[in-house]
Amino acid sequence: MKEIAASLAVSVLASGAAYAEEPRRRVAPPAVYEVAPGLGHFTDNVLFGEVWVRDALAPRDRSLVTVSVLVSTGKTAQIGSHVRRALDNGVKPEELGELITQLAFYSGWPNAISAVTETKKVFEERKIGPVADSAADRIQLEATAEAARAALIAENVSPTTPALADLTNRVLFGDLWRRPDMAPRDRSLVTMAALIAIGQPEQIPFHANRAMDNGLTREEVAEVATHVAFYAGWPRAMSAVPVLKQVFASREAAAAPSNAAASGELKVIRAEPASQGTPGPASNFTGEVRVTNRYAGEAPARIGGGLVSFAAGARTAWHTHPLGQTLFIVSGQGWVQKEGGPIIEVGPGDVVWIPPNVKHWHGASAATPMSHFAVAEALNGSAVTWMEQVPESQYRTGPAR
Ligand code: MN
Repeated sequence: MKEIAASLAVSVLASGAAYAEEPRRRVAPPAVYEVAPGLGHFTDNVLFGEVWVRDALAPRDRSLVTVSVLVSTGKTAQIGSHVRRALDNGVKPEELGELITQLAFYSGWPNAISAVTETKKVFEERKIGPVADSAADRIQLEATAEAARAALIAENVSPTTPALADLTNRVLFGDLWRRPDMAPRDRSLVTMAALIAIGQPEQIPFHANRAMDNGLTREEVAEVATHVAFYAGWPRAMSAVPVLKQVFASREAAAAPSNAAASGELKVIRAEPASQGTPGPASNFTGEVRVTNRYAGEAPARIGGGLVSFAAGARTAWHTHPLGQTLFIVSGQGWVQKEGGPIIEVGPGDVVWIPPNVKHWHGASAATPMSHFAVAEALNGSAVTWMEQVPESQYRTGPAR
């Protein structure tokens, strides 16, 4: 009876319609099929049979991304096999050394030192000699972007942690990012992969913009998140998606007006009912929120905005604007609060100025809807940094009376 059940199970597995296709080439070791046949199928048919061969990212880039995930998440047991694959895919030994150096800063020295031990074994096995620093000139960082970056550090980091600010300027951006041993594009690629893998979505806008400024395409950035899902898990990849969406949208908005500027045409964005607007994403808003009449100024202007309509009780999550924001209250009754401050009630005709980098939220009052026209300038293509939601208990406190 037991035997019948067993052979029945085997035949069901063997004829399992979904997994009937034979993998072209098995990467998963036999043990995987013996313990977790489903995992064997996904490894060979999906991860290596589909994802690794997708055109959206070259095999060399996929190797850089994979090794970055393994290094940054401390998965030392898998590093050796992927270092071999990386070498086979055209990653130079010097670049592997530089990847590890880069990720020491972004995921910590211990992970980097562990990666060195595993990589050294592969270098010995392949008779790869000691790797030396490149003799090429230091890379010149783009001056405007570098000035904007330094200004952010001066404002946000220096007053609190002056030594960290100094090291960030002098070592991280003044030395590491300027090392010629790895192309800036690849340095951005490995940094992006590591940030997604270790779950640092708040650091992604800066580095996603930098990556695209360094030549990574939007499709490649999206594919990095897709590839990382397999090596760091779906939740980490999914957490990166709304952040990337925001970055893509703000870069599109920043790029589009330059065409309009060439035409010299006035733009009129016609009024439309809120019901036809774009819903505010649930990751950044609580309750029913619609955006209409979105506009973006023409370069070199970096202003943009839109009409945001909040149902009663709806509000933004906590957030900041790198260059501040102005709210023109159009209708209803609204609430706005900065971190540590009281909830302030605002009404039609009121104008609210939110200074740069002040953490705040805005929305309708609990009982009455509100619409405001919101205007902000983008810095490095980004006009907002989203944070956690405003909990019901905090929101319900309402304005001081
Ligand atoms: Mn705001």
